[in-house]
Amino acid sequence: SAVRETTATTAGDIEELDRRHLIHPHQTRMRADRRVIVRGKGSTVWDAHGRARLDVTGAGNWVAQVGHGREELAEAAAEQIRELAYFTCFYEFSNDKAVQLAARLADLAPAGLNRVYFTGSGSEGNDTAIKAARLFHHRNGETGRTWILGRQFGYHGASYGSGTVTGFDLMHQGVGPNLPHVERLSPAWPYHQEFYQGQDPTDFLVAELEQTIERIGAGNIAAMIGEPVLGGGGVVAPPEDYWPRIRQVLRAHGILLIADEVITAYGRTGAWFDSAGRGMDPDIIVTAKGLTSGYAPLGAVLLSDRIAGVVADTDDFFFHGHTYSGHPSSCAVALRNLRLLEDENLIARSRQIGEWFRAGLAKAAELPAVGEVRVEGAMVGIELVADRATRQPQSPMAAVAACDELYDRHDLILRHYGPTIVMAPPLVITEEEVARAADGVTEVLQRLG
Ligand code: PLP
Repeated sequence: SAVRETTATTAGDIEELDRRHLIHPHQTRMRADRRVIVRGKGSTVWDAHGRARLDVTGAGNWVAQVGHGREELAEAAAEQIRELAYFTCFYEFSNDKAVQLAARLADLAPAGLNRVYFTGSGSEGNDTAIKAARLFHHRNGETGRTWILGRQFGYHGASYGSGTVTGFDLMHQGVGPNLPHVERLSPAWPYHQEFYQGQDPTDFLVAELEQTIERIGAGNIAAMIGEPVLGGGGVVAPPEDYWPRIRQVLRAHGILLIADEVITAYGRTGAWFDSAGRGMDPDIIVTAKGLTSGYAPLGAVLLSDRIAGVVADTDDFFFHGHTYSGHPSSCAVALRNLRLLEDENLIARSRQIGEWFRAGLAKAAELPAVGEVRVEGAMVGIELVADRATRQPQSPMAAVAACDELYDRHDLILRHYGPTIVMAPPLVITEEEVARAADGVTEVLQRLG
């Protein structure tokens, strides 16, 4: 009806229509409240009631690198939609913005990753990477190489392929058989020494990888996938020697490495690509989110020349395609977004934001309720513990309660993943806003005990 389409409905009406009709990703009936966001500027967003809040999450989902309400991106989208909203990139067709963006990404990417396949999301990107890795081996005559190694607490998406390699068991329950030939390894999580049976974490994890390869057979494994820094797992950086040593083992056995940089790329941790500084040297990098700062859905899978040469540059079909691959309006937004990141020096600013958080959260790090504060550029995880001595994790409900209080009493938007409170603000957040967020968090966690 007209009433439903009008924007003149009250905030209460919108919330009620939401409850009735909108299925939310990762929805649970435990939450009856709705937080309907209607406007944003810089690092501030407004809800349907007109109340302003500081967005310390990057639009709730690790995006919004350049901040909300950027005219430049609205213009880039409008201009492109007027000129050519969409034309397919299937077969020999193309469009100028997809070409320009692919070339730009090849310039920014680590050496050797010069080929780009566009998707609409991170999940599609990881599916693409998994297929490309398997196809690479298949076409090289190693048809048995089908297994993919993932990790516990790795988050790679919600489609069948990306969801299967995702290391959260809840996602796999009740939906029937998963993608076959997936094995999950232990996470690199130095704070939780108990994962490693008293050994050095990297020694343990390298040995576990070697044993897994031995058990499955190197000739049966296509690739390993991992986030350089666990995001949804709780912002967890591995020990410095972890990726270089894992990389060495994989290379020795002809196993490809896929870096899932859906969160970390485009400045989130203070670099264009985080994997470059961690010794990952991946064959494929999967990106999305920050590529457009969330102004349009878009992902980009960067493939090495070696892999693209086998999966795409042959007389055989690369029978893999998404209607919106290389969507010109999304690509135009991405091109402008990357220019803003560069012109406004936001990659370096991300590291500066990390320093502000580190200083602002120094007191919080000492609280009994806090196990560890982890800062990786403009990405922060605060792991809550029930017991600092044993490092026993706090119930996720404590993190829920903390985030609710921050939202309701401090007008701060934060999220939690399990018992870890995470922050990933726009890279335009100011020093004062970081201090406000850090002070709010400290105050709320103080009262947790
Ligand atoms: N990979 C990582 C590391 C992510 O954090 C996410 C989403 O949060 C994904 C993949 C999935 O991306 P999307 O939700 O765009 O499908």
